[in-house]
Parts: sequence; structure tokens; C-alpha cells
Amino acid sequence: MKIDWPEGKKFAFTIFDDPDSQRLADGRKVYALLADLGFRTTKAVWPLGPVREPNSPGDTCADPLYREDAIALQELGFEIGYHNATLHSSTRAETIQALDAFRQYFGHDPVSMANHYNEEAIYWGPARLSGTRRAIYNAVTLGRTRNRHFGHVEGHPSFWGDICRERIRYCRNFVFADINTLAECPGMPYHDRDRPYVNAWYAASEGSNVARFTCTVAEAHQDRLESEGGACIMYTHFGHGYVENGEMNSRFRHLMTRLSRKNGWFVPVGTLLDYLREKHGDGEITRADRARIERRWLWEKVFRGTS
Ligand SMILES: [Zn+2]
Repeated sequence: MKIDWPEGKKFAFTIFDDPDSQRLADGRKVYALLADLGFRTTKAVWPLGPVREPNSPGDTCADPLYREDAIALQELGFEIGYHNATLHSSTRAETIQALDAFRQYFGHDPVSMANHYNEEAIYWGPARLSGTRRAIYNAVTLGRTRNRHFGHVEGHPSFWGDICRERIRYCRNFVFADINTLAECPGMPYHDRDRPYVNAWYAASEGSNVARFTCTVAEAHQDRLESEGGACIMYTHFGHGYVENGEMNSRFRHLMTRLSRKNGWFVPVGTLLDYLREKHGDGEITRADRARIERRWLWEKVFRGTS
């Protein structure tokens, strides 16, 4: 499937950056580079600060400087995304408070989100998969994520599925090794009738830390993304190794500079997905298509350790 990209662009490339372990000073360096190179990507935030023991390091919008920085990025054309309420599990009331804070800071509800490994993560852990593939996932992961995520479970104190459906357009699920995310998941963004609290799902390409990111966007892969006319949504945490002791990773800088010189459409995740949705129409995924994507993802998860 070939997409006609806007403005005569040859392919699309963007990033969804989860805030785990990201400190303001390091994040600023990464975003200054992306902004200079002409990328406009998606930076996810935690709207609230912690009130219990955090399960991850990282800064949140409770810090006014961090918040102002995120607002300035939004004004530059970056998208601010959502990564659950904060860096620990939250109740339904706390999630509502977080989304209200997000709206207050950024002037609107989040367009796109990705789950953090909190209790209120939605359709997460084994619920990412269906049928026998769920059983295989549980066996392979030794049941580690079983009964840990409840965002979609009505009656649970962390349930917020109805609110997610009301206020958020896109949620990330599967992550693949290939740079061309759209080739792996051609129907994205898609609705899944078996997971109705999410309006539409998107997939991403593996880049959870700087080593994996630079592997996925290596020269030959960039060139192939371009020649295939595809679309890449990189999954990453800019807090994981991109800036060490104040120094930007040189391989990352080199690869992003190289990519920026190509004729790509470098818009945020929400903008890219809105465009694809316009092209595809309503996008209900068939069970057969979903089963194919699940099999592919599970295979990569087991043999390649993707996210
Ligand atoms: Zn996270």
C-alpha cells in the first residue's frame, strides 16, 4: 500500500517519547536537536507528581519548569502526549485529576497516549493479545504481567476505560523491529471491537533506549523507509541513554541529522494518525488481521525481545 504523503513528501517519520527516567536538562538537549533538525514529534508527560512511592524515575508536570518547557514545545509544533497520570499507579479519581490538569496546562485533552506499567494501564499485559496467543504470552513471560493492569476492568478502583474513550483518540499497543511501522500494521489507526474503550490503536517501531533506537533507524533502514514510502512511529524513552553526563549520543545525532536531510513528513504522532485515518476511513480491524499482527508481534517478542 502506497500512501500519498502531503506536500510531496516521500515518507513519514515521528517519535512517541515516554517520560520514564527523563530529566528536564537532558530532555531539553534532545528536543533542541529535534527542533533544529525540523522534526516535530510527540513528547509524552505525566501530568501529576507522585503522592506514593514512584515505580520509575523521571520528571513530571508537577515541576513548573518542566511544564513550561513542555508548553513551549507544544507552541513550537510538538505534540504533548499522555503516559498515564504519574510515575506510579493511580485510582480513577486521580486519573480524572491528571486529565483535567493536562487540559489546564495544554488547553485540550491528549490526542495520543501510551501506557506506563501502572495498574491503570489499559488492555495491557496479557490483555494486549487474544485467545491462545494470550496463553503463550503468559507462559513466556511467566505470568509476570498477569492481573496487574486494570484500566479497562469495570469496577476496579483503577478503571478509567470510559474516560479514555471520551477524552483520548489514539493508544499504542504493538511494537515491531522494522522501521516501517505502517508496513507491519497497515490498518493503523484501527478500532478493535474486542477492546472498545480505546477509540483507535497504533503500532510503533522498537527504540526503547538509545542502542535500540539507533539500530532501528540505522542508515540502510532509513533508506528503505524512504524507498518504501512508509511511515515510522518510533517508540522510545529519551531518558534511556541519549544524554550521558551532559553529552548527546553521537550516533543518535548523526542518524537524526542524516534522516532530516531526506524529504520526509516529520509531524507528531497525532497528526500522522489523523492523516492515515482520513485515508483509510473508519478502520475496524478484522479478527483475522488482528490475529496476524498478534502472531507477528509475539514471535518478535519471544525471539527478538521487542517491547
Ligand atoms: Zn513508562
